[in-house]
Amino acid sequence: MVEFRLEGNRVVFDVHPRVQAWFSTRRGGVSLPPFDTLNLSFGVGDLKAAVTENRRRMAAWGGRELDQLVMPAQVHGNHIEWVTRLHAGRGARGAHPIPDTDGFLTEDPEVLLGLGFADCTPIFVADVNARVVGLWHAGWRGTVKGIQRVGVEMLAQRGIPPEDLLIGLGPAIGPCCYEVDEPVVREVRRVADDAVLEPVDASHSRLDVRALNRRLLEQAGVRPEHIAEAPFCTGCRSDLFFSYRVQGRLTGRMGGYICLKP
Ligand SMILES: [Zn+2]
Repeated sequence: MVEFRLEGNRVVFDVHPRVQAWFSTRRGGVSLPPFDTLNLSFGVGDLKAAVTENRRRMAAWGGRELDQLVMPAQVHGNHIEWVTRLHAGRGARGAHPIPDTDGFLTEDPEVLLGLGFADCTPIFVADVNARVVGLWHAGWRGTVKGIQRVGVEMLAQRGIPPEDLLIGLGPAIGPCCYEVDEPVVREVRRVADDAVLEPVDASHSRLDVRALNRRLLEQAGVRPEHIAEAPFCTGCRSDLFFSYRVQGRLTGRMGGYICLKP
């Protein structure tokens, strides 16, 4: 059984003995308020030197160098990119990220995949034989655009069927802290039934984005028992996480990371 657990200052996803996967908390970094302390985004107004040091610490948690990390410019879309060691270092220090991309896949143990998160759902991916790993960014937009289905199809094209996939839905905003309005409710209803929505009033509902991703992954052929969920809401646990929804614009970003062991 795959699962998430809190280990020191990070949430570890135990998915496979030959895979390392983890999600940062806001603890263990060098940034000052309101980015205290482990902000991993260069785009929120934090000091560049602090973010660089925080990112270096993240790579070191996996026994990696900062220049083995690859990060994209995320746009809440559904584009996923295959990467190798030839991409390593892109975006790691802020410059030359892979453009317009919200997910990575790799078969190369020499590259560390990384994405930034505040409340959106991190989707960690490995297969039962540890041939590939992936990491996808799924807020409500990417989710209804089907980023999880796109990823499952890309893996099937490489000969890895959905039933071989092991998936972890990492720390994200829970329905307890996430109210959406009618336009979002309409978009969600295009891809799922009402079970992931809980009406609040005539024009607002609580949305469970993780549950929505679970449903869409199961529809794409992933086995229900192969999908783990982290037991954390980023909104409720402001001691552990930054939350765009709860803390507003002036806050930090967490990071999700995954790599194959060499
Ligand atoms: Zn909550």
